[in-house]
Amino acid sequence: MTIAERIAEVRQRIARAAEEAGRSPSEITLVAASKLNGPERIREAFAAGVTVFGENRVQEFVEKDARGAYAGAEVHIIGHLQRNKVKFVAGKAALIQSVDSPELLAAIHRRCLAEGKRQEVLLEVNLAGEASKTGCPPERLEELLEAAGGFSSVQVKGLMAIPPIYEKSVETRAYFAQMRELFVDIRTKKYDNVSMAELSMGMSGDFEDAIREGATMVRIGTAIFGARNYGPHG
Ligand SMILES: *Cc1c(COP(=O)(O)O)cnc(C)c1O
Repeated sequence: MTIAERIAEVRQRIARAAEEAGRSPSEITLVAASKLNGPERIREAFAAGVTVFGENRVQEFVEKDARGAYAGAEVHIIGHLQRNKVKFVAGKAALIQSVDSPELLAAIHRRCLAEGKRQEVLLEVNLAGEASKTGCPPERLEELLEAAGGFSSVQVKGLMAIPPIYEKSVETRAYFAQMRELFVDIRTKKYDNVSMAELSMGMSGDFEDAIREGATMVRIGTAIFGARNYGPHG
């Protein structure tokens, strides 16, 4: 199958899941997770109508951006972001989905302030508290939301999550439901520089369940680009 054919199929599946849940497919943004795919394949996806790309690694984003990979499209940073890499993405990425500490918020704010820019971000939540994963543990989320009030160049637009690998899809779905509860709960409260508009969850293996549980953004790599080649010449 071509990339265009895979995108068409993914869009159909998004639409079906949305309709089953009584939602409009237009509420859901498709983010094509394009890590390890070169500019040609990204342009192919863009030509097939994808307008948002998600990148994990700053270095890879910078290189592909310099080669014009994303012309006309938005880029979201979806992988763990180190503070010393903030300068390469702040004010350039349309959305940084993986903010998980007050220190990172502060670094983004300072960079944007210096350049007269603003940055929209999502807070990555590590709901299951997995020690091996990035993301803000739930017990520290309140502190992170409060901190956002002090960083006027940053606008928090919602939450992002990567569920643990479960054996059963009911478990993944329960995780997504918990994320939605958290999202709705925060929405009822008032924090400066925070609006709960986007809930980013769901990847190739589970995006339909994520949509059924309220995702507004799905990050899909394999189902669009095929299996990734992690080899040295990837
Ligand atoms: C790679 C990646 C995805 C997409 O994963 P697939 O299973 O290939 O769809 C989504 N989110 C993040 C943060 C990723 O790193």
